[in-house]
Amino acid sequence: MNEQSPTIPVPEPSAVSAPFWNATRERRLTMQRCGDCTRLVWYPRPFCPHCGGWNLRWEQLSGHGLIHAVSVHHRPALPALAERVPYAVVLVDLDEGARIMSNVFGGAPSIGDPVTVTWSALPDGRHLPIFERR
Ligand SMILES: [Zn+2]
Repeated sequence: MNEQSPTIPVPEPSAVSAPFWNATRERRLTMQRCGDCTRLVWYPRPFCPHCGGWNLRWEQLSGHGLIHAVSVHHRPALPALAERVPYAVVLVDLDEGARIMSNVFGGAPSIGDPVTVTWSALPDGRHLPIFERR
């Protein structure tokens, strides 16, 4: 019998997303900001989806935000999540002005709840950003 626990499939870093994934090794939440229109860009892209500019730079975010939307899952979407139901898939409005999809485990948050990023370790040293209530 295979004793290895199932793992969550995670994207391989691309040339564009590698800086994001490298920062997760140090548990830092980073995002691109457009130098032309100043808006944050999520997910990582080669150019700004708001203005088409190519002047994107990485910056570190606070990891603080408010819950914008919640979907509570009582059936795991993946075998790796079987022990964690019920869990919440959430949209978080980060203090810096971007919206990110993530998870909250250990009890569903409500819309408007303040949350902060925490990290789920991956086998290769990277981390997945998840959120917890503040
Ligand atoms: Zn822009």
